[in-house]
Formats: sequence, C-alpha cells, structure tokens
Amino acid sequence: MAEAENFIQQIIDSDLEAGKVKAVQTRFPPEPNGYLHIGHAKSMFVNFGTAQKYGGKCNLFFDDTNPSKEKTEYVDAIRKDIEWLGYRWEREVYASDFFDVIYDFAERLIEMGKAFVCDLSPDEIRETRGTLTEPGTESPYRNRTPEENLALFRAMKAGKYADGEKCLRAKIDMASPNVNLRDPVIYRILHATHHRTGDKWCIYPMYDYAHPICDYMQGVTHSLCTLEFEDHRPLYDWVGLTLGFSPKPRQIEFARLNLTNLVMSKRYLKKLVEEGSVHGWDDPRMPTLAGLRNRGIPAGAILDFCARAGVTKANSECEISYFEAVVRDYLNLRAPRAMAVVDPLKLTVTNYEGEEEVPFGINQFDEHAGERGIAFGKTLYIERSDFSLDPPPKYYRLKLGGYVRLKSAYIVRADEVVTDAAGNVTEVKCTYFPESRSGSDTSGIKAKGVIHWVNAERAVDAELRQYDHLLRDAEYAGQDFSERIRLDSEHIFHAKAEPALLAAPEGEVFQLMRTGYYKKCTEDDRLVLSEVVSLKDNFNK
Ligand code: ATP
Ligand code: MG
Repeated sequence: MAEAENFIQQIIDSDLEAGKVKAVQTRFPPEPNGYLHIGHAKSMFVNFGTAQKYGGKCNLFFDDTNPSKEKTEYVDAIRKDIEWLGYRWEREVYASDFFDVIYDFAERLIEMGKAFVCDLSPDEIRETRGTLTEPGTESPYRNRTPEENLALFRAMKAGKYADGEKCLRAKIDMASPNVNLRDPVIYRILHATHHRTGDKWCIYPMYDYAHPICDYMQGVTHSLCTLEFEDHRPLYDWVGLTLGFSPKPRQIEFARLNLTNLVMSKRYLKKLVEEGSVHGWDDPRMPTLAGLRNRGIPAGAILDFCARAGVTKANSECEISYFEAVVRDYLNLRAPRAMAVVDPLKLTVTNYEGEEEVPFGINQFDEHAGERGIAFGKTLYIERSDFSLDPPPKYYRLKLGGYVRLKSAYIVRADEVVTDAAGNVTEVKCTYFPESRSGSDTSGIKAKGVIHWVNAERAVDAELRQYDHLLRDAEYAGQDFSERIRLDSEHIFHAKAEPALLAAPEGEVFQLMRTGYYKKCTEDDRLVLSEVVSLKDNFNK
C-alpha cells in the first residue's frame, strides 16, 4: 500500500491493519442550501480522494434535514460541480431517504429510556443548558415514562403540536463538561414542506442525531468532517454506541480551508448575489466552483492546490496568492500563448513592405504544442508602456535610438515619434533589421528586451476584463466581510488582439504574453478576454 500522506490515512491504515474495516467507505455531505465553494473542493479532495487511494467508495450524501433552506436548484448545481472536479460518487443518498429509519431509532431510544419528550421552549432549553463552567439544569420532563414519551412523540409526528411546542431530547448528562451531551434536542417540530418528502413529516431530526445514523445506514467506515465537529464527536459516538451500531463509523476531523481575501460562507455569498454586488453565483470573482470554472481556472489546478495545501488538524488561513501561484504553475505548462495589446500604441516599421508569417511557439513547456504562423507587417501595435521618451536607467524596452526584439520576429530601432497637439506620442517610427529574424539571427545586434505586438491591419478589438479580489485585506482581525467588500473590482479595457483568438474555442485559456492568463469568450459577437490570473507573482511567504 502507498505510504500515508496525512494523519487521516495513518488512522485508516491502522484500522485496516487491525482488521476493524475491510473496505473504505466515505461520503461527501453537502447541505443543498447554496453553491459549493473552494472549501468544499477541499472536503471533496479529502472524502473522494481518500476513498480513491484505498480503492474504496465515496457517496454523495445530501444533508437535507433542514427543509426550509434547501432547494432542488442547489442539488443540481452541486452534482455538476462534483463532476466538473472529476469525482464520481458511488451512490447518491439523502438524509431524507432515512427519515423512517431515523424515526424508528428515536422510538427505540425512547423505549430504552434514553430519550424523552420535553415541553420546554427552545429559549428555555438554551437557558437551562448551563455554560462551559457551570452544569445545566435537568428538564422537569426528563423523567416521563417511556410509555408516556412514546405516546407524546407519536402525537408530535401526527401533527398535534405547533412548532417549538415540544421536542425530543436525548437523555444523556446535564452535567457533562461537553455541552453537546447535555440532553441535546434530537427532533424538533417544524411544519414545513420538504423539497423531497413534501408534507409527510412535521418533525425533523437534528443534524447531530441524524448524521451518525445516515453514515451507519450507508456503511460509512470513516466519516471525514471539519474541525468544528470535534466537540460533537462524543454525541456522534453516543448515538452509535447506544443504538448498537456494528461496525460503528469513525468520525475524523480535519482543518477547514480558509483563504485570505475570499468569503467562504454560503450565507455571505448568498448575500452578495442577492444584493447584486456580483453578477451571480458564477461571477468570476466568486470563490464558488461555478465562479472558478467561469473564471477559467481548470479543475486540475484546484486539485493541485488541495494536494499542495495538505490535510492537517490545525486551522489556518492560506494566502490567496498561494492559490494563484498554483494556478499559474498549472497553466504555464499547458496554456497556449497568444498576443494582445491592452493599451495600444502604433508602431510603423518604415523600411518594411508587405507581410510575412513568422513562426510563433505555442508553449515552450509542451513539446507537442508546436508552432503557428503570425503575420508580421508594416503597421503594428505595441503596449504604450513598452515605449518611453524619458526612460529610467536599465530600461530594456523601446526608447529613441534603442533596440528591442519584437517577439518571434525582428529587432527594431526606434527613430522618431509623432505626437498630438497635447504632446502625447501617437505613433513611433522604427527601422527593422532583416538579418535579425528570430531563429536565424545573424545581425549581431544586441537587444536586451523582447516585447509583444499585434499586426495593426489584422488585429481584432477585444474587451479585456481584469479583476481585483472581492475582499480587501482585513484592517483588523475579525473585521466584518461587509466592510471589506470591493464593489469596483471588475475593470474593463479595450485591447487589440491577434485574430487567431477569434477562431479559438470558447472558454480556452491563453497566456497573453507579458499580460496574464485570459479566458477567451464571445459575448454579443464581441471578443472578450477575461482574466484568469495575472502573471505577477505576489506570493512570497
Ligand atoms: P458554509 O459554512 O460555507 O455554509 P457548510 O459547512 O455549512 O459551509 P456544508 O454543505 O455543510 O457547508 O459542507 C459540506 C462539507 O464540506 C462539510 O463536511 C463541511 O465540513 C465541508 N466544508 C465546508 N466548508 C469547508 C472548508 N472551508 N474547508 C473544508 N471543508 C469544508
Ligand atoms: Mg454545514
């Protein structure tokens, strides 16, 4: 067996060695109340990835115990996102598939004297729970007989009571140092229509009670979840042990993925969408998988990131620049190169006539990528920032009397400029050197800089979009997200691009040389180049 890559795999190895489990079964448990985000990608990486590693199985488990917030729209989006990441689930199951079993187990707990119907209101229950330092107070209804409890519970199920009027509580220990064990509520009354079971139920099980049962019913061996459930594990184990589950699933917790400058809570993401701060759940600035996909970030880059960030037991915040560095590394090896000029300045090659194709390397890291021809001509556009009338020292781009290589083509020397009435440069005139052609340069001329260009006669107009992070850096720890939102985070430029981009497949990601990685798309017949990630590497931690 391959070596354990993290503490979860070490635990599984020892369970396998001890013969406690034969085949690994996990589950990915989203609640269908929003779109998946990059944090969920980490959870998928752990759940699906662990099953894959052991030749085991991973189910898609929809945690739909909370009927009022769940929607079928989200179920569909979640399925699509999982498939996009490249994972396949064994079975698709819903907590609601087990509502009957969960109910039967509750009756069994009542018969065992391990659960009771409580008439305290939700507020009263909270008030009598005690604190971290003080024990809670026992409910006056705690000593009802199993017969009485059973009758009341059945009446709850039959719809005799209003929301909150009664609930079912596990009878554990009001003095437990773990607040989750102080007679937790396991069923509540909620007259709500469920997206799958309709109006069949007016009582719904609480997550902490339902989850171990659902895991057991699916044959889950290792229930992998995030650290906030660590304190709930004793309740998870209590349910399994009390109901005699064998083999009992084992819960293991790992640290959530947090990224700087990203909101990762569904509640906030929903707010951004509803308030129109972004274009939708799939806005390219959103950390949702739909947003990342729309941004042009490949699924493989997200999985690389999860693998490189690792699986640990300590919560921490990962720099967004680290994520971007991983995406850049991924695309650098794969993305074809192209040229576009964001702020065009006309460059006329005075001693050149006609047009010729120069060979342009598609990706130097991909030996199968090969070359394509680009039309070189007399009138070109270069980046305004690649020419300076007043260059600082060590300026290797174009200046009057200076030499620069035009990518994949010739070395040119700038001779004179044309300016408008306000003195702005509107055109640069240059001389090219025929012997300096890329790949067969015998000119002996030294040009330190290489700049990108497009052929002005052939170039097409493109809308170029760049993005800032949706969240500004926090000014102090715990600053509310709403104060950090950057509403003006989308910037639009009008660029001149190679015509080859028009013919490229929709959604293809290019490295626009010296600018960044951009996704090609067409909107209303216009070419749009939308930033995936810049070329600038800000990661230095
Ligand atoms: P949110 O707080 O964004 O609403 P959630 O935990 O309520 O997230 P669920 O749908 O319950 O979302 O999550 C499904 C699984 O994904 C859970 O096991 C949860 O622990 C895990 N998960 C959610 N966010 C992250 C994260 N940032 N990093 C790792 N795992 C996560
Ligand atoms: Mg949750």
